[in-house]
Amino acid sequence: LHMDINHFRWINESFGQDAGSQLLRDIARRLEDQLGAQLCLPLARLGSDEFVAAFADIDAPALARHARTLQRNMLEPFEVFDQQVFVSMNLGGALFPQHAATAEGLLKVAELALHRGKERSPGEYRLYRPSTVHLPAHEMIALERDLHRALNEDGLRLMLQPIVTADSQPGARVTLAGVEALVRIEHPERGVLSPDTFIPVAEASGLILPLGAWVMEQGLAWLADATRQGLDTQTIAFNVSAREIHAGGLVERLAAGLERHDLAAQRIILEVTENVMLEHDSVVRETFDALRALGCKLAIDDFGTGFSSLSYLQHLPFDIVKIDRCFVGEVHTAPRQAALVAAMIEMGHALGLSVTVEGIELHEQASRCLASGADHLQGYYFCRPLPAAEALARFITL
Ligand code: C2E
Ligand code: CA
Ligand code: CA
Ligand code: CA
Repeated sequence: LHMDINHFRWINESFGQDAGSQLLRDIARRLEDQLGAQLCLPLARLGSDEFVAAFADIDAPALARHARTLQRNMLEPFEVFDQQVFVSMNLGGALFPQHAATAEGLLKVAELALHRGKERSPGEYRLYRPSTVHLPAHEMIALERDLHRALNEDGLRLMLQPIVTADSQPGARVTLAGVEALVRIEHPERGVLSPDTFIPVAEASGLILPLGAWVMEQGLAWLADATRQGLDTQTIAFNVSAREIHAGGLVERLAAGLERHDLAAQRIILEVTENVMLEHDSVVRETFDALRALGCKLAIDDFGTGFSSLSYLQHLPFDIVKIDRCFVGEVHTAPRQAALVAAMIEMGHALGLSVTVEGIELHEQASRCLASGADHLQGYYFCRPLPAAEALARFITL
């Protein structure tokens, strides 16, 4: 059972380091009092605010019961320097040998389950389900090793895909509005690995932090170079994961990068998915406000695929909506899909947002979306993501 205390950083910042340490000791004591005799190994503490408990001879329902008891037990406030502090935690569970055959693998998949739950809601318990990542533990460990190697040995590749504007009449000129940065791993034996496989592992392991920093630095360097060479592109968009926002330091790193490359913040778009907002806390809000104060734009990515995209639009300061490609496949043939896309575009405009439609593969899809008022389009029809080195030459002729 892997446990992670939520908002610990906030507690540390509001009450001070000493209070934070005392609180963690109290939490550990409470967990131990609760579990005591049932633990088959001493309670372990990981990082600053995570704990791992191991049980012998346990099945899924019994593990879930432990998780629930612990959660209930956390509802009682802690006393820290005469103040009452309320603590919540997320939990992830994994079973030996069903989910992983080694201790390392077991820790890995329990942590993954924890992060899956955390993306959905703070305070949740989740048992690892292999289907959630489609990867057995040994493959995840291998991927994590690949990620380490790629980071250390120049194995990451930056790809860029154009985001365009166009008129709706046929044959109209397409102009480049900006690019999106997309990362790949170039694996010595297995070829190019897709971010859909390794980003979840990067998020669960924390390697998303150096990876995100690498992508940002490469992207800024590319934009500065492209601008020097006369490419008329306004913006570059980066994908940002929840973990990067919660880790802190993103805004400072971006500001320093902009200064180093002599770029205006107005040219930066940060794309976030709903996952980022689920832990609807002050860190997200403050980071968004700081990014906007710097001059960057914020885009809500994969719009329409989550549960509550609409409520986030209402509360958070977005500039751009990116309609997910799952709405586009039949947009030129299915009236209901066309109506849905048109309504989403109209809603974005009513809120004063710019609307991009992703996943355009056909001319007819492009025309339909443009006729419905889309501001920007992105997709294989215009251009696939290209390696940074090729992108400049190709985009100049777009
Ligand atoms: P995304 O942000 O939704 O990125 C768009 C994805 O759609 C890209 O896949 C792109 O290659 C693909 N795509 C573009 N046009 C079309 C089209 O016309 N048809 C179809 N079927 N697909 C199209 P990619 O590059 O494999 O990236 C997958 C996801 O991985 C991204 O989805 C993003 O969520 C994540 N990702 C990629 N790079 C990074 C990164 O540097 N950091 C983080 N945190 N996530 C990243
Ligand atoms: Ca935490
Ligand atoms: Ca994106
Ligand atoms: Ca997307």
